[in-house]
Amino acid sequence: MPRSATHDLLILGAGCAGLSLANELIRRDSKLRVLLLEQRTEYHNDRTWCFWAPPQHAYGHCVSARWPSWRFSQGLERHDLSSAQGLQYQCIPAANFYADSRSKLKTQTAIELALGHSVRSLESKEDGVLVRCDDSEFYAPWAIDTRPQPPASQPYAQHFIGLELVAEQDCFADDLAGVMEDMACDEYGFRFNYVLPFSPRHVLLEATRFGRHVPKDALERDLQALLRARLQNTAFRELRREQGMIPMQVAAPAETAGRLLQAGLAGGAARASTGYAFLRIQHWAARCAEQLLTKQRPIAQPPDPRWRRWVDQLFLRVIEQYPERAPAFFMAMAGGVASDTLLRFLSDEGRPQDFMKVAAALPKAPFLRALPAAMGASRA
Ligand SMILES: Cc1cc2nc3c(=O)[nH]c(=O)nc-3n(C[C@H](O)[C@H](O)[C@H](O)COP(=O)(O)OP(=O)(O)OC[C@H]3O[C@@H](n4cnc5c(N)ncnc54)[C@H](O)[C@@H]3O)c2cc1C
Repeated sequence: MPRSATHDLLILGAGCAGLSLANELIRRDSKLRVLLLEQRTEYHNDRTWCFWAPPQHAYGHCVSARWPSWRFSQGLERHDLSSAQGLQYQCIPAANFYADSRSKLKTQTAIELALGHSVRSLESKEDGVLVRCDDSEFYAPWAIDTRPQPPASQPYAQHFIGLELVAEQDCFADDLAGVMEDMACDEYGFRFNYVLPFSPRHVLLEATRFGRHVPKDALERDLQALLRARLQNTAFRELRREQGMIPMQVAAPAETAGRLLQAGLAGGAARASTGYAFLRIQHWAARCAEQLLTKQRPIAQPPDPRWRRWVDQLFLRVIEQYPERAPAFFMAMAGGVASDTLLRFLSDEGRPQDFMKVAAALPKAPFLRALPAAMGASRA
């Protein structure tokens, strides 16, 4: 017997992707009955989202810091870049985004956020999706699943630990974001640091490594070394910590045929070669809301075009195979490619011409050696 729908759309997981879609629907004055099922019972300031963007955008009011310049460094060598087109490196603390999203949700009744609802099982049927939580079940013609999926065993990934703190004295130049600082390589592979100063005393320091086997204590040691180097002996107060692991894998195009669609990190939102996902999630959310409001099927996180998947595959193979050369590769890109070209290459705006300019700045031999394997993998 056909079930009657409790909602028009179920969103499983109300983190960045789930809330972004809700925000886009609210922005368009949607009357669709939407339910967000979220396992947490409250939100914490559990991460920061950084990205390059123009000064004005839909989440401009959530931004806590903007930097007109950003730095790549290896030893004493530095490249400080800025955008001729006015792009800034910007940071949104998750707490600002969660609070903003929840206040928008309160302005209307069609979209409901159900906290403390952990999705236990799903059944995708011909005309809809049945979702079961502990003591309730819901049915809708469409469901979008944004719950994190367990990664394949030991994927090549970006691992990081960050500490936000306030120092007792001025220690930082707050007009410059360190996006890839202190690049180096050791027995665990390629590593670098983020240094994001919100003021001369207030900073987020983050130790990052690319690799398959990254022991947590190695990252913790990196963080302690970073603290010593940047603060010297200045006393500080710890505000919060964040940590994560973002697989750096070229995602196979997500399943788009059924009524259950994947989005967010689980749907391949992170750019394989950089781990940046926030803006890609926003683009998906806007397009998905547009589809829903024109009575078309919602969309999963769209796959990258084939040429970009291939470029990312090639780049990742080379970095994994030659981690000791990775600092020189990134420094060559930062020093040899115009900032806006590099930003387009790192973002979804990149065109094949941008890739050609980046390739021209890089040593050819390792990339040529990795070419056949990358071509084979991106065809799969
Ligand atoms: C610490 C950290 C820092 C990051 N920094 C950046 C950055 O600077 N720039 C950038 O572009 N990207 C960044 N990322 C990557 C990416 O943007 C984030 O991971 C982003 O939060 C992904 O959004 P999402 O909706 O896919 O996942 P999440 O935001 O993790 O949302 C998933 C939601 O699903 C919920 N959930 C899980 N299981 C269930 C269940 N069974 N039932 C119901 N709900 C469930 C979770 O509680 C969560 O709220 C960062 C990631 C991390 C971890």
